[in-house]
Amino acid sequence: MHTLERLRSLAIYEESCGCIPGGVNSPVRAFTSLGMKPLVVHRGEGSYIEDVDGNRYIDYCGSWGALILGHAHPAVVKAATDQLAQGSSFGISTPYELECALEIKKHFPSMEKMRFVSSGTEAVMSAIRLARGFTGKPGIVKFNGHYHGHSDSLLVQAGSGVSYLSGSSSQGVPASFAQHTASLPFNSKEALLDFLNAHDDIAAVILEPIAGNMGLVPGELSYMHLLREETKKRGILLIFDEVITGFRVGLTGAQGLYGISPDLTTLGKIIGGGFPAAAFGGKEEIMNLLAPLGPVYQAGTLSGNPVAMCAGLACLKELSAPFFYEKLEEKADFLLRPIEEKILKENLPITLNRLGSLFTLFFGVRKVHSREDLKELDHARFNHFFRTLFETGIYLAPSPYEASFISYAHTEEDLAKTQNAILSYLEAFNE
Ligand code: PMP
Repeated sequence: MHTLERLRSLAIYEESCGCIPGGVNSPVRAFTSLGMKPLVVHRGEGSYIEDVDGNRYIDYCGSWGALILGHAHPAVVKAATDQLAQGSSFGISTPYELECALEIKKHFPSMEKMRFVSSGTEAVMSAIRLARGFTGKPGIVKFNGHYHGHSDSLLVQAGSGVSYLSGSSSQGVPASFAQHTASLPFNSKEALLDFLNAHDDIAAVILEPIAGNMGLVPGELSYMHLLREETKKRGILLIFDEVITGFRVGLTGAQGLYGISPDLTTLGKIIGGGFPAAAFGGKEEIMNLLAPLGPVYQAGTLSGNPVAMCAGLACLKELSAPFFYEKLEEKADFLLRPIEEKILKENLPITLNRLGSLFTLFFGVRKVHSREDLKELDHARFNHFFRTLFETGIYLAPSPYEASFISYAHTEEDLAKTQNAILSYLEAFNE
């Protein structure tokens, strides 16, 4: 295999290792499980990123799903730079928080009130505190392989970058913290009912309705409705973590697709237009418990940052353009349908899960409905596949436990090149 020249990337990575643990500011960037040296990029434009050695890659990671419009979209750049020139942060209310909240509420009516924060982790951590404050109960139910950020109570059987760790998913989380969090198999009605029948101290059930952090694994429709009914019946709050799916699977997120109104929702990624912004929100009577109205404390120096709000708003406005999601889905269909057909026709030991502009190829498994289905996942095959595409200038999500993202900026040429690369890889699959 031809190997890209990445000398400058390597030099920066090695020097970074001296002052940044593992050389990276988020573990999955280190490419450890791939056995490769990480990417070091300096620019992105549309569907491309460019590393510091000048190699260009068609980007299907898109800052982990944040960049639904691609890199440096002109409307987002303008909104952010215009605001930047007026001041980058005040720690005081601005009109843009209101505008952004109204725009989100238009599409997520379940978020009667919301608060902005700076990361998905913060949004989920705050939603959990609020759920506990509202119900007066300590217990949280999550699902194996679902990732909700790195706050203490949620690092239990988490997906994404922590899939490679065992136990409570992290040292440094006292057992007494993790003991209030139960993690169940996803999409199993029996496991859910058994658990809920045996416990009456549960504040909330939190899930990624369409999981993206164990690869793409959508919740089954009847399961999702059961979850809604059972939580409502028992006075348990249902929290949809839509940090990935919000504004990704459609303007109204996963809750719109399933026709389910959760009690609380968390958003991130897309709503910041590539800047650090996230939100949590839901029923007014729950949200009114937050300080200064109520006794649940939550705050943030950079919360609702004006540059992030303006960039996010510009991004959200683009998403309301006629047929935006239909066109995005057409791109996905163009890229993936022939691949899907080949897998089926040749009965390859691969599962392609896809929904809208999200997809994951699972090597070595025939169906994936939960984390339990991934026991036989073929990591060596995934690594080889990832590397082969990387060397031809295609950057897919760098882990078998992540979804890849198609953006509006991907051109027919990008998609055709990617499709050909994947089909030829599959052609040689049994050799
Ligand atoms: N929830 C979900 C569903 C996520 O995918 C992520 C991050 N990938 C988070 C929460 C945490 O968000 P952040 O990385 O912005 O803290």
